[in-house]
Amino acid sequence: MFIPMAFRPRRAFWLLATGILLALGGCVEKTPSTLERIKEDGVLRVVTRNSPATYFQDRSGETGFEYELVKRFAEDLGVKLQVETADNLDDLFNRLNQKNGPVLAAAGLVASEGRKAQARFSHPYLEVTPQVIYRSGAPRPTRPEDLLGKRILVLQGSTHAEQLAVLKRSYPELQYEESSAVEVVDLLRMVDEGQIDLTLVDSNELAMNQVYFPNVRVAFDLGDSRALGWAVAPGEDQSLLQEVDRFLDGVQENGTLQRLKDRYYGHVDVLGYVGAYTFAKHLQQRLPRYEQHFRRASQEQEIDWRLLAAIGYQESLWQPAATSKTGVRGLMMLTQSTAQAMGVANRLDARQSILGGSKYFALIKEGLSDELLEPDRTWFALAAYNIGIAHLGDARRLARQEGLDPNKWLDVKKMLPRLAQKQWYSKTRFGYARGGETVHFVQNIRRYYDILTWVTQPQMEGTQIAESALHMPAVIKEKPLESLPN
Ligand code: GLU
Repeated sequence: MFIPMAFRPRRAFWLLATGILLALGGCVEKTPSTLERIKEDGVLRVVTRNSPATYFQDRSGETGFEYELVKRFAEDLGVKLQVETADNLDDLFNRLNQKNGPVLAAAGLVASEGRKAQARFSHPYLEVTPQVIYRSGAPRPTRPEDLLGKRILVLQGSTHAEQLAVLKRSYPELQYEESSAVEVVDLLRMVDEGQIDLTLVDSNELAMNQVYFPNVRVAFDLGDSRALGWAVAPGEDQSLLQEVDRFLDGVQENGTLQRLKDRYYGHVDVLGYVGAYTFAKHLQQRLPRYEQHFRRASQEQEIDWRLLAAIGYQESLWQPAATSKTGVRGLMMLTQSTAQAMGVANRLDARQSILGGSKYFALIKEGLSDELLEPDRTWFALAAYNIGIAHLGDARRLARQEGLDPNKWLDVKKMLPRLAQKQWYSKTRFGYARGGETVHFVQNIRRYYDILTWVTQPQMEGTQIAESALHMPAVIKEKPLESLPN
């Protein structure tokens, strides 16, 4: 024996003491909250759906209402955003409940009672109404009884499936199908094409998609409006949810939320409900005839063809024989003198009009001051195309006088309507102009451009527009549909 007997108890004591201390230490050291973990990792992991109302790719990369909002939240936290898309709603909630999965779902989800076991919801950020959708031309259902005997398809795991299940208790004959292989755009397309009779979607989703589906109409609202919320997994940890609520309250107060709503849902206000499906009809019936000319003009002028097409829609609704009382004519509505200057012999010839109008737009854009940078430069060019470079100059000078930035479209846009008010235009160099109309002109074209961009996403480039508007493969899953009730 090396160690004298006398030391043994001491050694045992120290071993025991150290053990207790270590154990205590383990207890005292708190497990980090979800929020602390996010900040430690420097990453916010979010799960969403790939759809026009939530998250998708456009000409400038990732976008969508939910994406933009959640991106701001990540910035607010000072962490990176990592977005993943779920295959369907069940998959989304499964991922949210997975250990080491995404911590937040931002996916246009209704904060319903039925989801309590799967999620805890934030404060609301959008009010939506569940709507029954039918195909125009078919008899319009007006009450729940009218759903009987119809082919109905809804998203599996959606609040609409929940609603139908409740309805079935009162109407056992009610038949409907749920699918996990489709997205809302597919449901609307299937109604549009008559593959199913009815579907249920939330009003925000219809608003976002109406422009692609000319035959889709609202039959009736199935119940009251409900709130969309972001979701976290069930549990005790309040840290992330509190932070989300704080953020959502903040963007509500400072106007950011409203701006995002205007940007993503604003085209519905601009087009109106009827305008939205009229646009969809024209997208399918008219644009395909002229798309090649816009693409050609795009090559010649190095301007996105969808912007040129958007101008053409604003000018004439893509009608080559359009004529106005003021003497402008043709698809791009050129004046006689502009047409001459651009080498357009026949303004009513669609091809000539498009090539000439695009050339004119490119010239105006090139002539703008070097101080104007993209993307604002494009909006300024549109304004100048509409009101003329001289009046635009006046509006920019007014902006400067008001202490605003004459190189920012958002600032100059505020000044344009003043060109129609004597107290202001009397002091400008070029006088009266209908500047309010110019603001609408630019706003409309930007909406059309956004819509055209969505239907012709990068993965769909090369396909003809009519086809892409009908099929929208970007968000369509390849899994086959379950059999539908007849
Ligand atoms: N908002 C729906 C839900 O929470 C899903 C998408 C839709 O159909 O509008 O179930």
